Amino acid sequence: MQQSLATSVAAPPEPAPDIVFACVHCATSFVVDAAAAGVMLQCQNCQQPTTVPLANDAQPAGNNAVIISDLQQQLKENDSQRTEITGYINQLSIQLHRWHLRLNSLNERQQKLQSQLTTARSDAAH
Ligand SMILES: [Zn+2]
Repeated sequence: MQQSLATSVAAPPEPAPDIVFACVHCATSFVVDAAAAGVMLQCQNCQQPTTVPLANDAQPAGNNAVIISDLQQQLKENDSQRTEITGYINQLSIQLHRWHLRLNSLNERQQKLQSQLTTARSDAAH
């Protein structure tokens, strides 16, 4: 009993040749069973109806659409990383600007204190 259960889990039934196609609205790629050829489906990404192409003539276009979809996905990830890094740079730029302002005010204070010290010394000498 347990033996046969383990076997069926380890070897799931492989379906017939699938159709790879991309949504005509958002270019998200999907893989569907060959039985779904020509069927109108709702895109899981943009929720719009898109038609599954027939397997034969759609295969090259389908592969191309997968490449396009993959590239778009990589662009999207790249873009979100760019946004993240830009955010870090902006934060650190603001911090750097604050440190510069702080250093400037410390420099001004240093000059003022030194000038007061010089005055006090010359007063003491008299
Ligand atoms: Zn879509």
